[in-house]
Amino acid sequence: MEPPRLRQRQDCCEKPGQVQDANDEAEKEGRKERPVSGDGMHHPCCRSFLASPFWKCTTLVVVGFTPVFGMCLAMPELLAALEIPPWSLMWTSNFLFGSWISVQFLFNFIATQWTDPGGCKSIKPPHEVTGQFALGRAADAPQLLYAPNWCQKCAHWKPPRSHHCSMCKRCVLRMDHHCPFTGNCIGMRNHGHFILFYIFSFLGVSYSLVLCLAAVWTASYFSRFTTAAGAKLYENQRWISQQTHIVSGLNSMLLSVLLEVLHRNGITILVQLGASIMAMVAVAATGTPALHLAWTNTTTMEKLFPMKEYVQLKEQVYCPIGPGFYRQSGRENLKVILGDRWWLRLLFPVRGSVDQGEALAPRPSKEGCLSCSLRIVRAIRTPLTIGTRRGRSPL
Ligand SMILES: [Zn+2]
Ligand SMILES: [Zn+2]
Repeated sequence: MEPPRLRQRQDCCEKPGQVQDANDEAEKEGRKERPVSGDGMHHPCCRSFLASPFWKCTTLVVVGFTPVFGMCLAMPELLAALEIPPWSLMWTSNFLFGSWISVQFLFNFIATQWTDPGGCKSIKPPHEVTGQFALGRAADAPQLLYAPNWCQKCAHWKPPRSHHCSMCKRCVLRMDHHCPFTGNCIGMRNHGHFILFYIFSFLGVSYSLVLCLAAVWTASYFSRFTTAAGAKLYENQRWISQQTHIVSGLNSMLLSVLLEVLHRNGITILVQLGASIMAMVAVAATGTPALHLAWTNTTTMEKLFPMKEYVQLKEQVYCPIGPGFYRQSGRENLKVILGDRWWLRLLFPVRGSVDQGEALAPRPSKEGCLSCSLRIVRAIRTPLTIGTRRGRSPL
């Protein structure tokens, strides 16, 4: 299928304004646009394995270990170590709070894995002749048109912020990135679950660490030489250090702490503490950038491949837009990703209701609108030979 304006795009490719094609442009610049995944993942076998139910169940078991083990085995021991009487108000509150976080965490992870991120094959642009989508507008802002963006592989016009995923082999609405760990693309329909999964990860892991450390503290960690058993364990540690010749310095101290926690609190709390520390490292490393981007209403694709999308200034003249072009207030950004019922999703494990109309016509920020207005005025006064295609943009 040939798009109506593809021939015209080829004819005017030397002119300043061109129909955008992010993949073509990225290839010219020597860095092909592709998701945050290695080349090896694009092998058909690897791709189908990473999207298989087996892989999704495996990663679910990995991330589900800490909350399930924590709630079923570690929590009773932790509360007992903190000397909280069973079925007291404090005991029940802790159990309910831990269960709420665990359920929210697991629900949103599973929903991220299995929710369709949103395709755009059947979506027709409002301006079918030119293949253009209109961006959203504020009350006193001008109506901006998204530059025509044709996907060669899927053979359809791409809506704003959509990208072709080489792993899923299709265009995804408001694509953030392809997440190999969840085995799914992160797009308009499951981005909210993805963000909530990280929010509840932070909450749950922090809560678990606080409980574990409080239990270790309560068990009088610093009085390790007061009992014969404690002294014996310390001797064992010294023996290990002497035998291996590699456990020294920080390692020796760490081993000493581990043995002490094992002795004072038992294997269950030790396992929960270790799992929580590892989970915190993983969540902090991957979740912090994801939450920051969500807070600024920027997708990972827009961050990694800026200036690959354009708005129309006048016919055949387009201006690149950078990360943060769609940034609104924090509350508005949250609504864009979580939908109108964002507060309900924060409280209960419910599905989101993201408005597709808003996703197809994303609203630029005030700064973006103002900058575009100035550029439109300038572009109308300027002959066509002065281009904006390669220029830098503050948008
Ligand atoms: Zn595509
Ligand atoms: Zn994908």
